[in-house]
Amino acid sequence: MSGLRVAGVSKAFGSTRVLDSLDLEVTDGITAVLGPSGCGKTTLLRLVAGFLDPDAGTIAIGDRVVAGDGRPVPARSRRVGYVPQEGALFPHLDVTSNVGFGLPRASRRGARVRDVLDLVELPSSVAERYPHELSGGQQQRVALARALAPDPSLVLLDEPFSSLDAGLREDTGRAVARALRASGATAVLVTHDQGEALSLADRVAVMRAGRFLQVSAPSEIYLRPASPDVAGFVGHATLLAGTASDGTATCDLGRVSLLTDVAGAVLLAIRPEQVSVSPGASDGILADVLDVSYFGHDATLRARVCGGETVVIARVPAGGVPAPGSVVCLRVSGDVLAFPDPAAS
Ligand code: ATP
Repeated sequence: MSGLRVAGVSKAFGSTRVLDSLDLEVTDGITAVLGPSGCGKTTLLRLVAGFLDPDAGTIAIGDRVVAGDGRPVPARSRRVGYVPQEGALFPHLDVTSNVGFGLPRASRRGARVRDVLDLVELPSSVAERYPHELSGGQQQRVALARALAPDPSLVLLDEPFSSLDAGLREDTGRAVARALRASGATAVLVTHDQGEALSLADRVAVMRAGRFLQVSAPSEIYLRPASPDVAGFVGHATLLAGTASDGTATCDLGRVSLLTDVAGAVLLAIRPEQVSVSPGASDGILADVLDVSYFGHDATLRARVCGGETVVIARVPAGGVPAPGSVVCLRVSGDVLAFPDPAAS
Protein backbone atom coordinates (compact mmCIF):
# COMPACT_ATOMS: atom_id res chain seq x y z
CA MET A 1 0.00 0.00 0.00
CA SER A 2 1.23 3.52 -0.76
CA GLY A 3 0.31 6.72 1.03
CA LEU A 4 0.30 8.06 4.55
CA ARG A 5 -1.59 7.09 7.70
CA VAL A 6 -1.50 9.36 10.73
CA ALA A 7 -3.43 7.90 13.67
CA GLY A 8 -4.09 9.62 17.00
CA VAL A 9 -0.98 11.77 16.74
CA SER A 10 -0.43 14.37 19.45
CA LYS A 11 2.45 16.77 19.89
CA ALA A 12 3.17 19.41 22.53
CA PHE A 13 6.03 21.87 22.91
CA GLY A 14 6.40 22.39 26.66
CA SER A 15 2.90 23.06 27.95
CA THR A 16 1.58 24.07 24.49
CA ARG A 17 -0.38 21.27 22.87
CA VAL A 18 -0.02 21.79 19.12
CA LEU A 19 -1.54 18.60 17.68
CA ASP A 20 -4.39 16.89 19.43
CA SER A 21 -4.98 13.24 18.53
CA LEU A 22 -4.85 13.90 14.81
CA ASP A 23 -5.98 11.35 12.21
CA LEU A 24 -5.29 11.57 8.49
CA GLU A 25 -5.32 8.92 5.80
CA VAL A 26 -4.00 9.79 2.37
CA THR A 27 -3.78 7.08 -0.29
CA ASP A 28 -2.89 8.94 -3.48
CA GLY A 29 -2.93 12.29 -5.28
CA ILE A 30 -2.44 15.70 -3.70
CA THR A 31 -3.89 16.47 -0.28
CA ALA A 32 -3.82 20.10 0.87
CA VAL A 33 -3.65 20.75 4.60
CA LEU A 34 -5.36 24.13 4.88
CA GLY A 35 -5.35 26.16 8.06
CA PRO A 36 -4.53 29.52 9.61
CA SER A 37 -1.05 30.44 10.77
CA GLY A 38 0.00 28.60 13.93
CA CYS A 39 -2.59 25.78 13.74
CA GLY A 40 0.10 23.09 13.52
CA LYS A 41 0.52 22.42 9.79
CA THR A 42 4.33 22.54 9.73
CA THR A 43 4.53 20.50 12.93
CA LEU A 44 2.51 17.76 11.20
CA LEU A 45 4.84 17.76 8.18
CA ARG A 46 7.93 17.68 10.40
CA LEU A 47 6.52 14.68 12.29
CA VAL A 48 5.83 12.83 9.04
CA ALA A 49 9.27 13.70 7.63
CA GLY A 50 10.94 12.46 10.81
CA PHE A 51 12.37 15.79 12.01
CA LEU A 52 10.23 15.49 15.18
CA ASP A 53 8.82 12.54 17.14
CA PRO A 54 5.16 12.38 18.19
CA ASP A 55 4.19 12.26 21.90
CA ALA A 56 1.40 9.79 21.07
CA GLY A 57 -0.06 8.03 18.04
CA THR A 58 1.49 6.35 15.01
CA ILE A 59 2.62 7.44 11.55
CA ALA A 60 2.83 4.94 8.69
CA ILE A 61 4.23 5.60 5.22
CA GLY A 62 3.21 2.91 2.78
CA ASP A 63 3.18 -0.35 4.73
CA ARG A 64 5.80 0.75 7.22
CA VAL A 65 5.14 2.32 10.62
CA VAL A 66 7.80 5.02 10.86
CA ALA A 67 6.93 6.57 14.23
CA GLY A 68 5.04 5.65 17.38
CA ASP A 69 5.74 1.93 17.37
CA GLY A 70 9.19 1.16 18.72
CA ARG A 71 12.22 3.03 17.44
CA PRO A 72 11.33 5.77 14.95
CA VAL A 73 12.63 5.30 11.41
CA PRO A 74 15.20 8.06 10.79
CA ALA A 75 14.23 10.86 8.39
CA ARG A 76 16.75 9.79 5.71
CA SER A 77 15.24 6.27 5.55
CA ARG A 78 11.59 7.31 5.19
CA ARG A 79 11.62 7.81 1.38
CA VAL A 80 10.01 11.20 1.82
CA GLY A 81 10.72 14.25 -0.36
CA TYR A 82 10.47 17.61 1.40
CA VAL A 83 9.97 20.97 -0.30
CA PRO A 84 10.24 23.84 2.18
CA GLN A 85 8.96 27.43 1.80
CA GLU A 86 12.10 28.84 0.21
CA GLY A 87 15.86 28.83 0.45
CA ALA A 88 16.01 25.08 -0.02
CA LEU A 89 18.70 25.08 -2.69
CA PHE A 90 22.44 24.99 -2.10
CA PRO A 91 23.64 28.37 -3.40
CA HIS A 92 27.10 27.08 -4.38
CA LEU A 93 25.77 24.19 -6.51
CA ASP A 94 24.30 24.48 -10.00
CA VAL A 95 20.80 23.19 -10.80
CA THR A 96 22.01 19.74 -11.89
CA SER A 97 24.04 19.27 -8.70
CA ASN A 98 21.18 20.53 -6.54
CA VAL A 99 18.73 18.10 -8.15
CA GLY A 100 21.17 15.18 -8.05
CA PHE A 101 22.18 15.80 -4.44
CA GLY A 102 20.18 12.92 -2.95
CA LEU A 103 21.08 10.40 -5.68
CA PRO A 104 23.89 7.82 -5.66
CA ARG A 105 27.15 9.51 -6.74
CA ALA A 106 27.25 7.78 -10.17
CA SER A 107 23.85 9.12 -11.25
CA ARG A 108 24.13 12.66 -9.89
CA ARG A 109 24.55 14.24 -13.33
CA GLY A 110 22.73 11.56 -15.31
CA ALA A 111 19.44 10.89 -17.05
CA ARG A 112 17.36 10.90 -13.85
CA VAL A 113 18.23 14.56 -13.25
CA ARG A 114 17.24 15.45 -16.81
CA ASP A 115 13.99 13.48 -16.44
CA VAL A 116 12.87 15.27 -13.28
CA LEU A 117 13.81 18.68 -14.70
CA ASP A 118 11.58 17.76 -17.62
CA LEU A 119 8.84 16.71 -15.24
CA VAL A 120 8.84 20.12 -13.52
CA GLU A 121 8.87 21.79 -16.96
CA LEU A 122 12.29 23.40 -16.71
CA PRO A 123 14.28 23.71 -19.95
CA SER A 124 17.69 22.05 -20.19
CA SER A 125 19.19 25.55 -20.52
CA VAL A 126 18.82 26.09 -16.75
CA ALA A 127 20.74 22.92 -15.83
CA GLU A 128 24.11 24.69 -15.48
CA ARG A 129 22.76 27.79 -13.74
CA TYR A 130 23.14 28.62 -10.07
CA PRO A 131 20.12 29.36 -7.83
CA HIS A 132 20.72 33.14 -7.89
CA GLU A 133 20.39 33.01 -11.69
CA LEU A 134 16.82 31.64 -11.46
CA SER A 135 13.46 33.29 -10.77
CA GLY A 136 11.68 32.42 -7.50
CA GLY A 137 9.26 30.16 -9.39
CA GLN A 138 12.11 28.33 -11.13
CA GLN A 139 13.88 27.86 -7.80
CA GLN A 140 10.78 26.21 -6.33
CA ARG A 141 10.52 23.91 -9.36
CA VAL A 142 14.16 22.91 -8.87
CA ALA A 143 13.41 22.25 -5.19
CA LEU A 144 10.55 19.97 -6.26
CA ALA A 145 12.77 18.27 -8.86
CA ARG A 146 15.32 17.58 -6.11
CA ALA A 147 12.62 16.14 -3.84
CA LEU A 148 11.32 13.92 -6.68
CA ALA A 149 14.71 12.72 -7.96
CA PRO A 150 15.15 9.78 -5.52
CA ASP A 151 11.61 8.61 -6.41
CA PRO A 152 10.05 9.12 -2.95
CA SER A 153 6.78 7.44 -2.06
CA LEU A 154 5.58 10.61 -0.36
CA VAL A 155 6.29 14.29 -1.08
CA LEU A 156 5.68 16.94 1.57
CA LEU A 157 5.43 20.58 0.51
CA ASP A 158 5.41 23.30 3.18
CA GLU A 159 3.88 26.51 1.76
CA PRO A 160 6.10 26.13 -1.33
CA PHE A 161 4.69 29.18 -3.12
CA SER A 162 4.43 31.63 -0.25
CA SER A 163 7.43 33.71 -1.31
CA LEU A 164 6.15 34.14 -4.91
CA ASP A 165 4.02 37.01 -6.17
CA ALA A 166 0.42 36.34 -7.23
CA GLY A 167 0.86 35.59 -10.98
CA LEU A 168 3.96 33.46 -10.54
CA ARG A 169 2.32 31.69 -7.64
CA GLU A 170 -0.55 30.48 -9.78
CA ASP A 171 1.65 29.36 -12.70
CA THR A 172 4.16 27.65 -10.42
CA GLY A 173 1.35 26.01 -8.45
CA ARG A 174 -0.17 24.53 -11.59
CA ALA A 175 3.23 23.32 -12.88
CA VAL A 176 4.06 21.73 -9.52
CA ALA A 177 0.68 20.00 -9.36
CA ARG A 178 1.15 18.65 -12.91
CA ALA A 179 4.64 17.38 -12.02
CA LEU A 180 3.40 15.69 -8.84
CA ARG A 181 0.58 13.99 -10.72
CA ALA A 182 2.90 12.88 -13.53
CA SER A 183 5.39 11.46 -11.00
CA GLY A 184 2.67 9.36 -9.37
CA ALA A 185 3.89 10.39 -5.90
CA THR A 186 1.43 10.91 -3.07
CA ALA A 187 1.75 14.51 -1.88
CA VAL A 188 0.76 16.57 1.14
CA LEU A 189 0.74 20.31 0.47
CA VAL A 190 0.56 22.66 3.44
CA THR A 191 -0.98 26.05 2.77
CA HIS A 192 -2.99 28.81 4.41
CA ASP A 193 -4.25 29.92 0.99
CA GLN A 194 -7.71 28.54 0.33
CA GLY A 195 -7.58 29.31 -3.42
CA GLU A 196 -4.40 27.29 -3.70
CA ALA A 197 -5.85 24.39 -1.70
CA LEU A 198 -9.13 24.27 -3.64
CA SER A 199 -7.55 24.63 -7.09
CA LEU A 200 -4.51 22.34 -6.78
CA ALA A 201 -5.51 19.50 -4.48
CA ASP A 202 -7.59 16.35 -4.93
CA ARG A 203 -8.70 16.63 -1.32
CA VAL A 204 -8.51 19.32 1.30
CA ALA A 205 -7.95 18.74 5.03
CA VAL A 206 -9.17 21.82 6.89
CA MET A 207 -7.16 22.26 10.09
CA ARG A 208 -7.84 24.46 13.07
CA ALA A 209 -6.02 24.46 16.41
CA GLY A 210 -4.32 21.10 15.94
CA ARG A 211 -7.36 19.18 14.68
CA PHE A 212 -8.94 18.45 11.32
CA LEU A 213 -12.42 19.89 10.94
CA GLN A 214 -13.10 18.19 7.60
CA VAL A 215 -11.22 16.15 4.99
CA SER A 216 -13.04 16.08 1.63
CA ALA A 217 -12.80 16.86 -2.08
CA PRO A 218 -12.52 20.62 -2.79
CA SER A 219 -16.07 20.91 -4.16
CA GLU A 220 -17.46 19.04 -1.15
CA ILE A 221 -15.62 21.36 1.25
CA TYR A 222 -17.08 24.39 -0.50
CA LEU A 223 -20.59 23.15 -1.23
CA ARG A 224 -21.09 20.90 1.83
CA PRO A 225 -18.90 22.24 4.63
CA ALA A 226 -19.18 20.12 7.76
CA SER A 227 -19.59 23.06 10.12
CA PRO A 228 -20.08 26.84 10.18
CA ASP A 229 -16.35 27.11 10.99
CA VAL A 230 -15.39 25.38 7.74
CA ALA A 231 -17.95 27.42 5.77
CA GLY A 232 -16.56 30.66 7.22
CA PHE A 233 -12.93 29.71 6.68
CA VAL A 234 -13.15 28.28 3.16
CA GLY A 235 -14.59 30.66 0.60
CA HIS A 236 -16.06 33.17 3.06
CA ALA A 237 -19.63 33.11 4.28
CA THR A 238 -21.86 35.41 6.25
CA LEU A 239 -22.95 33.47 9.33
CA LEU A 240 -26.43 34.50 10.46
CA ALA A 241 -28.73 33.17 13.17
CA GLY A 242 -32.16 32.10 11.93
CA THR A 243 -35.20 29.98 12.63
CA ALA A 244 -35.87 27.11 10.25
CA SER A 245 -38.93 25.07 9.34
CA ASP A 246 -40.16 23.26 6.20
CA GLY A 247 -37.06 23.94 4.11
CA THR A 248 -36.91 27.68 4.70
CA ALA A 249 -35.55 29.96 7.42
CA THR A 250 -36.18 33.52 8.54
CA CYS A 251 -33.17 35.70 9.36
CA ASP A 252 -32.03 39.33 9.14
CA LEU A 253 -32.02 38.98 5.34
CA GLY A 254 -35.68 37.87 5.23
CA ARG A 255 -36.90 34.39 4.28
CA VAL A 256 -34.32 32.14 2.60
CA SER A 257 -34.63 28.62 1.25
CA LEU A 258 -32.38 25.94 2.73
CA LEU A 259 -30.01 23.40 1.22
CA THR A 260 -30.09 21.17 4.28
CA ASP A 261 -32.97 19.70 6.20
CA VAL A 262 -32.85 21.27 9.67
CA ALA A 263 -35.46 22.82 11.93
CA GLY A 264 -35.46 25.19 14.88
CA ALA A 265 -32.59 27.52 15.78
CA VAL A 266 -29.99 27.45 12.98
CA LEU A 267 -26.82 29.14 11.88
CA LEU A 268 -27.01 30.03 8.19
CA ALA A 269 -23.88 30.25 6.03
CA ILE A 270 -24.59 32.53 3.09
CA ARG A 271 -21.96 32.65 0.35
CA PRO A 272 -21.03 36.08 -1.08
CA GLU A 273 -22.23 35.04 -4.56
CA GLN A 274 -25.67 34.17 -3.12
CA VAL A 275 -26.31 37.78 -2.11
CA SER A 276 -27.50 39.98 -4.97
CA VAL A 277 -27.00 43.70 -4.56
CA SER A 278 -29.10 46.36 -6.27
CA PRO A 279 -28.74 50.10 -5.92
CA GLY A 280 -31.17 52.18 -3.87
CA ALA A 281 -34.41 51.06 -2.24
CA SER A 282 -35.85 48.28 -4.39
CA ASP A 283 -37.25 44.94 -3.25
CA GLY A 284 -35.14 43.42 -0.45
CA ILE A 285 -33.31 44.36 2.73
CA LEU A 286 -31.72 47.82 2.92
CA ALA A 287 -28.06 47.98 3.92
CA ASP A 288 -25.26 50.54 4.10
CA VAL A 289 -22.12 49.69 2.13
CA LEU A 290 -19.19 49.70 4.57
CA ASP A 291 -16.29 48.91 2.25
CA VAL A 292 -15.46 47.39 -1.13
CA SER A 293 -12.54 45.18 -2.23
CA TYR A 294 -12.14 45.50 -5.98
CA PHE A 295 -10.47 42.57 -7.81
CA GLY A 296 -10.87 43.63 -11.45
CA HIS A 297 -13.07 40.70 -12.58
CA ASP A 298 -15.44 41.36 -9.66
CA ALA A 299 -15.54 42.89 -6.20
CA THR A 300 -16.68 41.91 -2.73
CA LEU A 301 -18.36 44.33 -0.39
CA ARG A 302 -19.40 44.39 3.22
CA ALA A 303 -22.74 46.01 3.99
CA ARG A 304 -24.49 46.54 7.33
CA VAL A 305 -28.24 45.92 7.43
CA CYS A 306 -29.94 49.29 8.12
CA GLY A 307 -31.03 49.70 11.73
CA GLY A 308 -29.09 46.62 12.90
CA GLU A 309 -25.64 45.19 13.51
CA THR A 310 -25.64 42.40 10.91
CA VAL A 311 -22.80 42.69 8.40
CA VAL A 312 -23.17 40.79 5.11
CA ILE A 313 -20.49 39.91 2.55
CA ALA A 314 -21.60 40.08 -1.10
CA ARG A 315 -19.88 39.60 -4.44
CA VAL A 316 -20.77 42.03 -7.23
CA PRO A 317 -19.76 42.16 -10.90
CA ALA A 318 -16.99 44.61 -11.82
CA GLY A 319 -19.44 46.80 -13.76
CA GLY A 320 -21.82 47.41 -10.85
CA VAL A 321 -19.77 48.21 -7.78
CA PRO A 322 -21.62 50.53 -5.37
CA ALA A 323 -19.62 53.18 -3.51
CA PRO A 324 -18.86 52.84 0.20
CA GLY A 325 -21.44 54.87 2.13
CA SER A 326 -24.25 54.24 -0.39
CA VAL A 327 -27.47 52.41 0.47
CA VAL A 328 -28.17 49.17 -1.40
CA CYS A 329 -30.80 46.48 -1.39
CA LEU A 330 -29.79 42.90 -0.56
CA ARG A 331 -31.56 39.71 -1.61
CA VAL A 332 -30.51 36.11 -1.09
CA SER A 333 -30.87 33.77 -4.05
CA GLY A 334 -30.45 29.99 -4.19
CA ASP A 335 -30.47 27.48 -1.35
CA VAL A 336 -28.46 28.36 1.73
CA LEU A 337 -26.39 26.12 4.00
CA ALA A 338 -27.83 25.73 7.49
CA PHE A 339 -26.43 24.13 10.66
CA PRO A 340 -28.10 23.52 14.00
CA ASP A 341 -27.13 26.63 16.01
CA PRO A 342 -24.50 25.48 18.57
CA ALA A 343 -25.36 28.52 20.74
CA ALA A 344 -28.96 27.31 21.05
CA SER A 345 -28.19 23.81 22.36
P1 ATP B 1 2.45 28.88 9.84
O1 ATP B 1 1.40 28.81 8.78
O2 ATP B 1 2.56 30.25 10.46
O3 ATP B 1 3.79 28.31 9.41
P2 ATP B 1 1.70 26.41 11.18
O4 ATP B 1 0.25 26.09 11.09
O5 ATP B 1 2.62 25.71 10.25
O6 ATP B 1 1.92 27.98 11.07
P3 ATP B 1 3.38 25.38 13.28
O7 ATP B 1 4.65 25.92 12.71
O8 ATP B 1 3.16 23.93 13.19
O9 ATP B 1 2.11 26.15 12.68
O10 ATP B 1 3.33 25.83 14.80
C1 ATP B 1 2.21 25.52 15.65
C2 ATP B 1 2.47 26.09 17.02
O11 ATP B 1 3.58 25.39 17.62
C3 ATP B 1 2.83 27.56 17.05
O12 ATP B 1 2.21 28.14 18.16
C4 ATP B 1 4.34 27.55 17.19
O13 ATP B 1 4.78 28.72 17.87
C5 ATP B 1 4.57 26.30 18.03
N1 ATP B 1 5.89 25.67 17.76
C6 ATP B 1 6.27 25.14 16.58
N2 ATP B 1 7.53 24.61 16.67
C7 ATP B 1 7.92 24.81 17.95
C8 ATP B 1 9.12 24.50 18.70
N3 ATP B 1 10.13 23.83 18.13
N4 ATP B 1 9.17 24.86 20.00
C9 ATP B 1 8.13 25.51 20.57
N5 ATP B 1 6.97 25.83 19.93
C10 ATP B 1 6.86 25.50 18.65
